[in-house]
Amino acid sequence: MITTKALTKVYRSQGREVTALDGVDLSVREGEVYGVVGTSGAGKSTLIRCVNMLERPTSGTVTVDGVELTALPGGEHRAGRELRAARRRIGMVFQHFNLLSSRTVQENVELPLEITGLDRHERRRKAAELLDLVGLGDKARSHPGQLSGGQKQRVGIARALAGDPRVLLSDEATSALDPETTRSILRLLRDLNQQLGLTVLLITHEMDVIKSVCDSAALMRGGRIVEAGTLTDLLAAEGSELARELFPLGAPGAASPGSTVLEITFQGESSAQPFVSQLARTYQIDINILGAAVETIGGRLVGRMRVELPGDHQDNVVPIGHLREQGLQVDVLNTNLDTNLGPGLTPSLNPNGAAV
Ligand code: ADP
Ligand code: MG
Repeated sequence: MITTKALTKVYRSQGREVTALDGVDLSVREGEVYGVVGTSGAGKSTLIRCVNMLERPTSGTVTVDGVELTALPGGEHRAGRELRAARRRIGMVFQHFNLLSSRTVQENVELPLEITGLDRHERRRKAAELLDLVGLGDKARSHPGQLSGGQKQRVGIARALAGDPRVLLSDEATSALDPETTRSILRLLRDLNQQLGLTVLLITHEMDVIKSVCDSAALMRGGRIVEAGTLTDLLAAEGSELARELFPLGAPGAASPGSTVLEITFQGESSAQPFVSQLARTYQIDINILGAAVETIGGRLVGRMRVELPGDHQDNVVPIGHLREQGLQVDVLNTNLDTNLGPGLTPSLNPNGAAV
């Protein structure tokens, strides 16, 4: 639904050049909620602004809903007719809502419809319908100043939906909101995604946002996408940085010399526990459980267990292979650890997750 190929954006200001995007290949499938995370300055906003051509990329292509936007004439300020039409099919939600304070809620939602030349009656009808959809049917005559942050963002979302977009872009839409309001806005985005079949590309710096609404995610750093995939695939990928942040078990602590620390990840209704006890019986080894947690990520139950096996990695090749054959994902942590950090491992339990 959204594809970028080798997307590059170089800003030139006052003789300086900043490469904000450095060859970004993004692929968002129809109907999914796709989250892009990264620290400040990673290029996230530039990416989203290039996707709807508010910013003209320096090179590379952007295709949305089968239309290659980068091939259409016009730039950020003077979009041609075709580009304007294509943009109407892309809704945009902003962190600071960008509402007009002099207009009522209803008039804010009507704004994009005025540009399309829809008559007054139709605009009213459409705006009322959208305000109902976002749960603000009773606020049509209020002014933005009379609304809470969450309500303002609902108006922003209603306005973004005015052109019946197929795609909704959101740049930190919940960053100015408290956690409770954030959850309700995310639920709204999820509902719209499911009810309207809307494809959502959202930018965030909060891992919790990814965890609660996204089907897929990408990690950006220095203008590049360093990791991307469905949450399910990321959690199943060995050594995934995103998976580790989505599901932290706490710092690994130091391994006792001569032992191997594994992280076993399982998805769905299964649990690692039977596999671990079976392993202990089969290979006659003592397995020490150091920590475990279960969380719901992208609507799926995911569990992770950290265990310690006697002997080094070489000694445990067979049991590790056995676990992997059962379809469990196994990460060997020792290889990344400095074994001189001290004796014993610190048991850790993810405070956000339930103990297994
Ligand atoms: P993020 O949204 O991930 O914080 P941005 O896309 O806003 O990152 O910025 C990426 C890089 O591009 C940063 O180094 C930023 O300073 C630079 N940048 C963003 N917009 C402009 C601009 N209009 N002119 C010059 N540099 C910019
Ligand atoms: Mg930004």
